[in-house]
Order: sequence, then structure tokens, then C-alpha cells
Amino acid sequence: MSSATTPSFMAVTHKVENQPPLLVNYNSFLQDAALQERLKREGADWAKADLTRYGKITGSEEMIQLGFDANEHPPQLETHDRRGERVDRVRFHPAYHQLMNQAIQEGLQASPWSHPRPGAHVARAAKYYLHAQVEAAHGCPITMSFAALPTLLKQKDVTQPWIEKLFSHQYDPDNRPFEQKTGITLGMAMTEKQGGSDVRSNTTRAYPLGQEGAGQAYELVGHKYFVSAPMSDGFLVLAQAPGGLSCFLLPRWRPDGSKNPLQIQQLKNKMGNVANASSETELRGALAWMLGEEGKGVRNIIEMVSMTRYDCMIGSSAGMRQATLQALHHAAHRQAFGNLLNRQPLMQNLLADLALESEAALAFTLRLSRALDQTDNKEEQALLRLARAIGKYWICKRTPNHAYEAMEVIGGSGVMENHIMPRLFRESPVNSIWEGSGNIQCLDVLRAVHKEPACLDIYMQEVLQAQGQNKQLDYFVKQLQQDLQDTEQLEYRARNLVDRLALAMQASLLIRSSPGYLADAFCASRLTASAGLNYGNLPKGVDCRAIIDRATPGTD
Ligand SMILES: Cc1cc2nc3c(=O)[nH]c(=O)nc-3n(C[C@H](O)[C@H](O)[C@H](O)COP(=O)(O)OP(=O)(O)OC[C@H]3O[C@@H](n4cnc5c(N)ncnc54)[C@H](O)[C@@H]3O)c2cc1C
Repeated sequence: MSSATTPSFMAVTHKVENQPPLLVNYNSFLQDAALQERLKREGADWAKADLTRYGKITGSEEMIQLGFDANEHPPQLETHDRRGERVDRVRFHPAYHQLMNQAIQEGLQASPWSHPRPGAHVARAAKYYLHAQVEAAHGCPITMSFAALPTLLKQKDVTQPWIEKLFSHQYDPDNRPFEQKTGITLGMAMTEKQGGSDVRSNTTRAYPLGQEGAGQAYELVGHKYFVSAPMSDGFLVLAQAPGGLSCFLLPRWRPDGSKNPLQIQQLKNKMGNVANASSETELRGALAWMLGEEGKGVRNIIEMVSMTRYDCMIGSSAGMRQATLQALHHAAHRQAFGNLLNRQPLMQNLLADLALESEAALAFTLRLSRALDQTDNKEEQALLRLARAIGKYWICKRTPNHAYEAMEVIGGSGVMENHIMPRLFRESPVNSIWEGSGNIQCLDVLRAVHKEPACLDIYMQEVLQAQGQNKQLDYFVKQLQQDLQDTEQLEYRARNLVDRLALAMQASLLIRSSPGYLADAFCASRLTASAGLNYGNLPKGVDCRAIIDRATPGTD
């Protein structure tokens, strides 16, 4: 029978059935009980109305689509124009610019600095947590801009005009001198080919143009192996000055209106973080001003790096929340073997475990936001010093396996590029590797404890606020304290100790501020000798249904 004569009823092969609806047009704040509760607990309940507004935007189909578009069309480098003139321009898909515009309009690059108030860091972290769930890669320039401020403050005579532009809520992607722009973004260039973690091996040289020292002009010659967001208006750069490794602010344009020779050699071909441009560059006599004392470059730039590490915690927590949402949503609508997936015991165990991990990450992160809000409180600052390294290490490291397990919940469709899961998965290792890789964070914990032993006492005091409320935590902490006393082979044992410090803090926070069934499940599954290695290892007696219901998005 020819196709022209096929009866139409015979051409219908099947109905699309048992496929979950798209998870779009929901309010990502109102669907998130844990976030709402923590916002209040950590002192930013005043931001609720704004986050409710923003949750609708970040859950909208239109915004979600921007994330897909920005990653399907990676940035492209244009080193020269058609006349052969060096331009060093990066072209982005319009969706990338829309995401950047949205982030800057919402003040994610500066709000706690430009509008300080109690809870300002908590409110920004909560908003960034919603925003990053849509698309993580463009968060790199947003984070670097946000993080630069503490370092910029070290040399206000040079940086004041930059700070003013940083506080603007206008995204201005034009490639022009910063003075002519309505808003700016900032990047960071430390890593060189011969060493990223060990920046003391930097070979880029800084030559004074006149007077030497803080605030003075230099020309930089050398290479940088990783410069993300190379279209930024300015970069904080490490280079060897005559008096040692120093920190510089390098503008994209010189004050005389000529192009500053920060030349992009190529864009990195990255497995994840695709919408963001990361480059290899050469500095060919690029003008830069020294920020802070000569020879104290690491100490000066570390203030920026510390803030990017904190943002990595927000980003990875957001990635885990989005992955959990996708898994829960799928399992709430998909049937197998005659029952919804989220009604089946083995799947319930896995889903609840993923939700637990996600909530524990958020709890840890927003607790640090509260510490950031209390700059005058010495104890909070000591807590921050240690907890930031522990949290950056732990949360970022827990994310890749979490993303993979969430992907597996969705099955084959979770592997497809028209689903968000592949992107979440590819993004998941990045936060752990940059801004101080896992081992570097663990070594930083040892360094902090060695230099300021009080910060460990303060950390443990915070953990011990839950003392007597859960036997498993009490026992776990006792063992941990004993092992912390043992100073033999500390470096070799650092991961083990940091893992346990992180778990103790998460358990303590959940015990003190989450529903009992959730905290109990966390302690029973992560603090006991029989804890399994993979997700989906919750022991008997856990109220999986309650954990799942708490975290599952409804529709609105
Ligand atoms: C997508 C992306 C974007 C980036 N963007 C930027 C950017 O904008 N600006 C910038 O400056 N950098 C950037 N980086 C670089 C990044 O910060 C470095 O890759 C990172 O710091 C690690 O440095 P490395 O690659 O030289 O590895 P190495 O320093 O060689 O480290 C390799 C491994 O050894 C471990 N290690 C190092 N020392 C020790 C030790 N003593 N004991 C035990 N283990 C150790 C590390 O933890 C790591 O796992 C970016 C990286 C990526 C992936």
C-alpha cells in the first residue's frame, strides 16, 4: 500500500505516555521549604518578598531556555578584526548577555557591598542560589566581580572609580574603557602554565613605570594559562615585582584610550562551564596598578579568592538543589512496574538521600553567609576562616556523584542534551577544581588551625551547640576530637579529618534547625560505622516519604 493511500489511523504509531511534564513555570523560591526556613534562621527574612518575585523569574520557561541557549552556542574568540588590527574580542550568544544582564540587575555582583545591611550576604546567597540553578557558567564573571571588592578596598586611591562602576546595576558588555561604561565586570589572572595552586612559581614580571610600590603603575610581561571572562573590564593579576609577588589591577584599556596588551591566545575547550569563556593570554607590557603592599600579592589577592571559594559553595549547593528537583519531579510522575517511582522503596531511599545532601549543603552555605554578615564579630570571622575551606572542599566534592545519581533517576532521558542534567553533571566537578582544588583546601584547613588554633575551637563550639540532641553526633564528635589531637601524619590524613569536620557541622546545623526526621536521617546515614558509600544507603526507620515531600516541587 503506498503512503498516499495509508489510512491515517494506521500512521499513528503511539501516544506519548508516562512522560513527566516539563519542570517549567514554577516558583523556585516558594517550592523550596529549606531555603525559606534558612533565610529566616540566618537573618534575612526581610528578603522574602524579593525572593518570591525572583523565584518566579528563575523558574520561568523563558529564563530556563536562556541557560540552554547560552551553552549550545559557546563563546567565540576574535583576536583580530578584518583589517588585521588586534581586538581580543569574545562573542557570546545573546542568551549569555541576557543572563548576565539579569544577574547584574539583581545585584548579584555587589549587593552586600553596595547595600550593606544585616542579612545582606544571606539574601544575596539565597538569590544567587536561585539564579545559579538556571545556568552556572556565567556565574564565573559575576562571582569574580563580587569577590574582587575586598581586594579593591586595599587601594582605594586607585580603585574608587572602579568600585562605583561595580556597584551599578547596569550590565554594559561594550568593549570600551571602563570610564565610558555604565557598569563593569572584573576577572582574575593568577594561574600560569607551570603552576596554579602554587602561585609562588609565577613568572610574569612587573616593571615599574616610575615610582614603585602600592598604587603605582607598572607594565606586566608574561603569560596566564587560565583567564576566565577575558572580556572583563579589569583583572586582578599576580606578577613578580622587584620586591616580590604582588597584586595588580590591570585594565582592559589604558587611560589614554589605547588597547592594553592583554592578548588572548585562545579560548579553552572545556568539558563544562561552556557558556563562560576561559582563555590563555599573554601580557605584553600591559599597564597595571599595584594593589596593596609590594611582595604581599598572595595575601592581597587571597581576599578575593576567599570570596570566590564561598561562591563555589553557593554554586555547588545550587547545582545539587536543581539536580534534586529534577530527580524528584521525574520520580513523582514516572511509573515503572505499575507504580510511581517515588512510591517504590529503593527509589525512595535514593531520592531522600539526594534531598538530604542538598539541604545539608544549603545549611552549611547559608550559615557562612551569616558569618560574612558579621564582620565585626571576631568569633564569626574565625569560624568563617576555617569553615570556608572545609565547606568549599566538602560541598563541591559531594556534587559530581550527586549529579550523576540524579541523572540516573531520570534514566535515559537524563543523559540527553535537551535535558538540564548533562549540563549539571559537566558543571559539577569545576567548582572543586578551580579556586583551590580539594587537596589545597584541606591543606588550608591545616594551615588555619596551625596559625590560629582558636578557629578550630570556635568551629567545634558551633558543632557542639547540638550536643546531647543526637547520640550518633555526640559519639562522632568525640571520635573526631580524639583524632584531631593526633598530630602524626596530619597532611596525609587531612581529607579524612576535613570530611568529618564537614559532616559534624552539617549534622549540627540540621539537628538545630531542620525537621527531626531529616536531621535523624542525616546522622544515621552519615555518622555511623555502617554508613554506605553510595547515595541510596539510608538505614531502616528513616521517614523517606517526609523528606521527599518536603523537597518535591509542586506546580503553581
Ligand atoms: C574552567 C576553569 C577556569 C579557570 N579560570 C581561572 C581564572 O580565571 N583565573 C585563574 O587564575 N585561574 C583559573 N583557573 C585555574 C585554576 O584555578 C587552577 O587550575 C587550579 O588552581 C589548579 O591549578 P593547576 O591547574 O595548576 O593544578 P596544580 O596546581 O598542578 O594541581 C594539580 C593537583 O594537585 C593537587 N595539589 C597541588 N599541590 C598539592 C600538595 N601540596 N599536596 C597535595 N595535592 C596537591 C591539587 O589539589 C590538584 O588536584 C581556571 C580553571 C578552570 C578549570
